[in-house]
Amino acid sequence: MNHTEKLVDLLAEAGLAGRGGASFSTARKVAAAQDSRATLIVNACDGELDAAKDWFVVSRHLDELVHGARSITSDVRYAARRGSPTLNLLLAAGLPALEVPDRYVASEESAIVSIAHGDFARPVSRDRPLVFGGKDAEGRRLRPTLVLNAETVWRVSQIIHNGPGWFRSFGTPAEPGPRLVTVAGAVHHPGVFESAAGTPIADLLRRAGAAPYRAVSVGGLSSGFLRAAEIEQLRWDSEVLMAHGCTIGSGVLRVVGADECPVEYVVRTLEIAAAETAGQCGPCMFGVPAVAADFAAVAAGDAGRVVSLHRRLGLLPGRGACHFPDGVAQYLAGALRVFGDDLDAHLGGRCVAEPDRRNAHAS
Ligand code: SF4
Repeated sequence: MNHTEKLVDLLAEAGLAGRGGASFSTARKVAAAQDSRATLIVNACDGELDAAKDWFVVSRHLDELVHGARSITSDVRYAARRGSPTLNLLLAAGLPALEVPDRYVASEESAIVSIAHGDFARPVSRDRPLVFGGKDAEGRRLRPTLVLNAETVWRVSQIIHNGPGWFRSFGTPAEPGPRLVTVAGAVHHPGVFESAAGTPIADLLRRAGAAPYRAVSVGGLSSGFLRAAEIEQLRWDSEVLMAHGCTIGSGVLRVVGADECPVEYVVRTLEIAAAETAGQCGPCMFGVPAVAADFAAVAAGDAGRVVSLHRRLGLLPGRGACHFPDGVAQYLAGALRVFGDDLDAHLGGRCVAEPDRRNAHAS
């Protein structure tokens, strides 16, 4: 058994799954990379809204990150956003860095592979998983490339040092191992926290010093929302979150404070999504800006756009070359589920969270 085969067995025994959002088996990815002699790109872009855990790993655990990456292959590059402190640290350490434009979809797995091939920073449709190489939709050759999130690679190093038993002493049997959570928004101590699946979400919020809050956005633009009243009962667990229209994703909890207008927050976030389309696919290029405009109009009191909002929302999922429009649809569906009453109040010219401001708008 060679070195990589031993590593694959170790990772399989530990049950490590990717920490970037897809939660795919790292052992299977590394095995495929070995078979295809793939190059490795460590994704340290913190691509999700409010995410900071890649920065946490690079700034605090760089040696272990490098060890984890080199244990997979000697052919490694580190992707980070242009102008970010993460990129500066990687460059200062003399590591081979890949600069990624500071845009949401540019840090998507296939967009990073596209950049590594000298092409545009946008997702590419491909005929098979990128770890096997192949051709993109325009017929350009793609070298076999494995993309792993920075936290995933750090965990590889920890498993090598501490063993699969140590790793499985955290989390749940279905989702073993420690995992990082970024807590942002209406909290006194925003930042990155060590956690594990099965932890009560309320405990995570307390650790970050959450102020009184109305709801929590879970997983940024590719997941949904939880009401404050639900959160006391819920654990940080994929199955539990799925039942509420959310995913763990890349581990972000953004707290919407009690004095914050959640409708305005969703309007702002959808504006970001609308500006982020890479302009390749119709549902993304036209659909995402259209639902963002519909939602903003409804938030401003235009009841005539409600039907259009729901109709267009139904047209988003499953039609882009990447999952960006699916994520936006899930996000907006979650917002409508949790903030439906707030949106109704806006239609009536009121705002539950900011009554003075809404009344000022109306007068
Ligand atoms: S869905 Fe949007 S982000 Fe994804 S490939 Fe198409 S245009 Fe690009």
